[in-house]
Amino acid sequence: MLRIADVKRGIRRVDLAYAQLASSDIARDMNRDVVLELIRARQPISRADLARLSGLQRSTVSLIVEELLEEDWIREGAVARRPRGRRPTLLGLNDDLAIVVCDLRPTQAIVAVVDLNGRFLSRESLPLISDPGRAVAQIIARMKKMQQRHAQKSFEGIGVSLPGRVDPDSQTLIFAPNLKWPRYDIKKAIERGTGMKVEMDNAANACLLSELWFGRMDGVRNAVLITVSEGIGAGVLANGQLVSGKQGMAGEFGHIPIDPNGPGCACGGRGCWETLASSRAALRYYRELGGASDGIAVNELMKRAEEGDASASKALEKQARFLGQGLRMVIAALAPEIILVTGEILAAWPRLGSVVEAELSPVVLAGTPPRLVPVEESEVARLRGAAAMVLQRHSGYRRARRPKSRLAS
Ligand SMILES: [Zn+2]
Repeated sequence: MLRIADVKRGIRRVDLAYAQLASSDIARDMNRDVVLELIRARQPISRADLARLSGLQRSTVSLIVEELLEEDWIREGAVARRPRGRRPTLLGLNDDLAIVVCDLRPTQAIVAVVDLNGRFLSRESLPLISDPGRAVAQIIARMKKMQQRHAQKSFEGIGVSLPGRVDPDSQTLIFAPNLKWPRYDIKKAIERGTGMKVEMDNAANACLLSELWFGRMDGVRNAVLITVSEGIGAGVLANGQLVSGKQGMAGEFGHIPIDPNGPGCACGGRGCWETLASSRAALRYYRELGGASDGIAVNELMKRAEEGDASASKALEKQARFLGQGLRMVIAALAPEIILVTGEILAAWPRLGSVVEAELSPVVLAGTPPRLVPVEESEVARLRGAAAMVLQRHSGYRRARRPKSRLAS
């Protein structure tokens, strides 16, 4: 029988709430997604095992498998060893499919190629120059070079993770206070330069998508991912769905004012959560405690704390307390089962994790507080999440049938 945990993994997040709608189209879509999910989670796998694990008829499984083969999602590979009887051909994801991804940060860009299983085939970083037109031209040149290097792969598109909010309708960057770029149509420029379709989303959503598709969130339907670096970003999964809100602006907890007399914020407000709990806040606390923080980055502050600088420790602990206090509103608003934390703060997580946690436990209205889980490799998560943006577009019946090999020029 199919377990919910199986449905929750892999290619597309299947929302079982739709099962109640139960039109035959939706049922067919869901069956297909379930089969694809199982192939992904259990590959290599036989048709018979797919039928057994999904609870679907053998004939239904066979039809779906034929379709997935035709569309290149999956491949037939090894032959299973059995002591006797027929030896079934096993199925797996087609890792000849690849996605070009880019993680755009305020100071650098990382360009990579990721396959359908989330494996990195190439990864390079380049400094981000301040002129957006020239910066994007450099990124495009790097993308093309990588594509040529993997010319045997079939490229599905481009996914971009951005340090700001992306309007889901216009797919433009509408709010990126830390990037400091003038308005510039990144998507159009990359599509024109590469000839491939581009999907974009903010870095927090990218990390959350990565955890959903390639990570450890089996069965979790309510989660919040918080990135704590120069600012504070959040991605929200509620009732199994990624929440974007009007113009993609949902989850901007970082810009909820906590202290009306607090410092000015890049958004124009005052005393926002991010002015109190980001890396920049920690550096400010350090200065206020008399620490010499001229031009140092937060990892230097963390190093000083490790080396016994009491002001550095106090500054970081104050940041962590404010982080925990702000998380209370996140918990009250969304009641997540799990809060994933990533960003610069992770380097000091062994020291700060318990400080943050201590702020949460006394305020939970009912039950136990959510699990606080650090996402260690946030760069990897953003890049894999950018790949998931593209895969998500293609999943289910939305994926067009196309010739077997198609290399973008
Ligand atoms: Zn703000």
